Amino acid sequence: MSNQELNPMQQQVVDVLGKPAGWVPLPLTVVTAVRDQLETALAPLAAKLSPDQPLYVSKGSLNTVHGCEAHFMASLDSFEWTISNVRGTVMHKAVELAINWRGHIEPADLVEEALTRLEDEQSRGPSEFIAQLSSGERAQLRSYAVDLYTKFEESFPPLKASWRPVTESSARVELFGGLIFLSTRVDLTLGGPGSKVIIDLKSGRIYSNHREDLRFYALVESLRSGQPPRRLATYSLESARADVEEVSEGVLQSAVRRVIDGANAIYELTRESREPQLNAGAQCRWCPLKNNCETGKQFLERGFEDD
Ligand code: SF4
Repeated sequence: MSNQELNPMQQQVVDVLGKPAGWVPLPLTVVTAVRDQLETALAPLAAKLSPDQPLYVSKGSLNTVHGCEAHFMASLDSFEWTISNVRGTVMHKAVELAINWRGHIEPADLVEEALTRLEDEQSRGPSEFIAQLSSGERAQLRSYAVDLYTKFEESFPPLKASWRPVTESSARVELFGGLIFLSTRVDLTLGGPGSKVIIDLKSGRIYSNHREDLRFYALVESLRSGQPPRRLATYSLESARADVEEVSEGVLQSAVRRVIDGANAIYELTRESREPQLNAGAQCRWCPLKNNCETGKQFLERGFEDD
């Protein structure tokens, strides 16, 4: 498809994610500096860890611990698949299949294929959850996922193989010989190392902390590949709007500071039994403590906007 045939939403994606003429990558010395900064600041924490009990830092744990420590502690080991949180995974699988599909396919058929494949996958994932759904629940999930996939298909230009699209790509960085791990799973990446665009797809609205998630992805990609990505984008399928940030040394340093603070907080809370602090925010809406936490209840009663 030529650019002339793109609809306005697709054209906007091309405009905000395309590589501008004359774009120059960050010098690789930036990655060395960022790694030094991270390892120097985390060395005292690493000294308290052992290889049989390393510390794992993910986007989810960072987000939760920086959002509200009490929420973080209450959410440990409490993850459950639901129709609402699995629909994004089904949509990502449908996108992955669509990238490599030959010939025309209807979104409903693609989503059904995605559901079948996820159900058959043996790795950690929603396989069991999908397998035990009733016919009605499966139909509801299919309907949500078709809606998301259709929005994706309408808003994104057809992904060419030459853009090197990859969905649900996981990456891991091992620090101090396996004492601290940083891990990510990115919804969609375009481009190769050194000029990668990292995209987080959201079914709903864009929140301020989504930028922090992407900065963490950028840090992990930089440390893993030795080359910083080019651009970061949170894309709301609901509003067909992208929040885009160029990767700079400042962006990576901001992620470094957040990882340092987050890793120390996770250690203190989970290994040293430090009292968690309360911090009300958007996270109160899905916090398991929201019915008993006065701080959270008052915050939710007041109402808030964070878009
Ligand atoms: S309801 Fe809000 S303030 Fe209370 S623990 Fe949960 S996230 Fe924290």
